Amino acid sequence: MPQRTRPEILFPLFAPVTVLKGVGSRIGAHIERLAGSQIIDLLWHLPVGVIDRRYSPNLVDLEPGRVATLELTVVKHHAPPTKNRRVPYRIDCRDKTGEITLIYFHGRSDYLLSVLPAGETRLISGTAEVYDGKLQMTHPDIVANLDERESVMRVQPVYALTEGLSQNVLGKVIAGAIDRTSNLPEWLDPALVAKREWKPWQAALVSAHAPDGPLTLDPAAPARMRLAYDELLASQLAIMLVRSHVRRQAGRAIEGDGRLRSRVLSVLPFRLTDSQNTAIDEISVDMAADSRMLRLLQGDVGSGKTIVALVAMLTAVEAGGQAALMAPTEILAQQHYATIAPLAEAAGVPCVLLTGRYKGKARTTILAGLANGSTPIVVGTHALFQDDIAFDDLAIVVVDEQHRFGVHQRLLLAEKGSAVDVLLMTATPIPRTLMLAAYGDLDESQLREKPAGRKPVTTTTASIDRLNDAIAGVQRHLDSGGKVFWVCPLVEESEAIDVAAATARHSALNQRFGGRVGLVHGKMSGKEKDEVMSRFAGGAEPAVDILVATTVIEVGVDVPDATVMVIEHAERFGLAQLHQLRGRIGRGDRVGTCLLLYGHDIGATGRERLRVLRDTDDGFQIAEQDLRLRGAGDVLGTRQSGLPDFRVVDLNAHGELLAVARDDAQLILARDPALKTARGQALRTLLYLFERDAAIRFTRAG
Ligand code: ADP
Ligand code: MG
Repeated sequence: MPQRTRPEILFPLFAPVTVLKGVGSRIGAHIERLAGSQIIDLLWHLPVGVIDRRYSPNLVDLEPGRVATLELTVVKHHAPPTKNRRVPYRIDCRDKTGEITLIYFHGRSDYLLSVLPAGETRLISGTAEVYDGKLQMTHPDIVANLDERESVMRVQPVYALTEGLSQNVLGKVIAGAIDRTSNLPEWLDPALVAKREWKPWQAALVSAHAPDGPLTLDPAAPARMRLAYDELLASQLAIMLVRSHVRRQAGRAIEGDGRLRSRVLSVLPFRLTDSQNTAIDEISVDMAADSRMLRLLQGDVGSGKTIVALVAMLTAVEAGGQAALMAPTEILAQQHYATIAPLAEAAGVPCVLLTGRYKGKARTTILAGLANGSTPIVVGTHALFQDDIAFDDLAIVVVDEQHRFGVHQRLLLAEKGSAVDVLLMTATPIPRTLMLAAYGDLDESQLREKPAGRKPVTTTTASIDRLNDAIAGVQRHLDSGGKVFWVCPLVEESEAIDVAAATARHSALNQRFGGRVGLVHGKMSGKEKDEVMSRFAGGAEPAVDILVATTVIEVGVDVPDATVMVIEHAERFGLAQLHQLRGRIGRGDRVGTCLLLYGHDIGATGRERLRVLRDTDDGFQIAEQDLRLRGAGDVLGTRQSGLPDFRVVDLNAHGELLAVARDDAQLILARDPALKTARGQALRTLLYLFERDAAIRFTRAG
């Protein structure tokens, strides 16, 4: 029987980290925040640096400033006077060639006396310096007994930390996690392993964690390459399994007669661009075919994707089916609805909005309309795909800002109807490599042309030191009746801190601008956000002229009067993200102005990135540059990228392996579609190892 539950051999790796020695609930919580809650998460937490502790000179030869492991005899303890906390605890030590003093600020004497008793000899590892002509070492990294020499005098891996975890503690915990691994059956092609001179999985893991110098940290080091390849193979296999499952389900031919489409196009105040027409043709051809459509519509902010989506949806309605458009946020769903509903209604097609905010009777009514088919078009959030929602005959699903949804979610939401066509939309151009990583091969249509009359946004950059000038500029803009977006960065690591920063900026600006400033951030409820947004967009009172926001405004909201945007710490954003943000202000009749304020720690690459943004307005070019300058995972912000959440893979370094993995996966599934052979079984283990096991249920039975 092929394995359909997690193989037993992996059980130890999916145990909670708290089973490890020395990991209680407190340290467990820190580890969970840093890496994850399971042993496997620690295994993927690879070192980011090394400390070479093999240098072990006599004191007379010691090079100050270099990490050294010394064999020292403790001579005398000097506790500071109890009243004076600023005087450190000092311990004089010597070897046969010289003397050194160990310094501990706030040292506890009972502890220090026990680990460094006078007269005893210990191994002390750390960095010494010369102070007043004498050698001293402040807070040694390691104090150990002489018989621990082997484990101390080595190249020590250095891990990324989080508050509350020290290098020593985390190092021990990870070593404990590695001890729980065993070798796993080989899932790679032996010829590939031999050609690349890769070690088996467990050995590769051990060497990735036991660097013998900085070179082994290189993503191109063999051990890391092997682990990355494993992950790419798992990901490509999973994508192919899911997609072939989707494709295998028979599609149906959906052909419209053009009557609704022509009515809508006749009420539009503009003509479609050539790229919009081309995209519509490509989509119509896909829909008319009797296989299922899976197409990505890429188009820069403002390129006019919505109308293309609407035409696709109307085609489905013309053919007697229903259409759903799903957006990642409440605000965005509302805005789509505001655009689409009047147009659809002009063509006599009823259209409803459904988000998490609809409860009780209102929701029941909407659901009834979808279930009996009297409502042909629905726009909403992921609330659309809850279990109790049924369609009479759903024919097409459009997913906007698709990268906000998980891969499986995206591909499988189509299960709400039989043979549903899927159109994914994104304003973030996805470079080739990333496309392949995220979807395998996917059909795509691109809107590379901007609608006529769109003015590019003027973008300038300045140091955060010029904040006061920025505020003066904002004042001038307000005086002339305009509105302003003020964006504060939201960095994943600590939402709380970012929200605090945005809140502080809001209150400072609000003081300066007499209460005309609003705030939206991710911790607010949908309702609270909407309230502020509608005061900013116009209509609701009291009016807001400056909107301080974290990136929740990144997608969505059209406010034609807002033509100035200030972005703080622009260097912390992805280029594609910045480009999307500034796309918000290129919409009215006035030329938009975007001011990118950067912090002091911006660095050379950061400057170059902002320069790219200042000098080009082509989203596709910006995305390619961003990938080149920054590395793949970061291009869209890892979490939001819709990329598989890679643990080991760095697409910049491992991009070359991606095509190999794709071909490999294709061959595997061609020969062994049910993953039944011995290697197939091993590959199942691989899928479980990288938590891509959701795909396993799509292996072709028998
Ligand atoms: P996005 O691709 O960012 O989703 P939208 O579909 O929201 O872009 O379109 C942005 C704006 O451009 C909308 O106000 C829309 O009405 C307008 N628009 C769309 N297509 C054209 C066109 N061919 N000519 C002029 N304006 C257009
Ligand atoms: Mg849009």
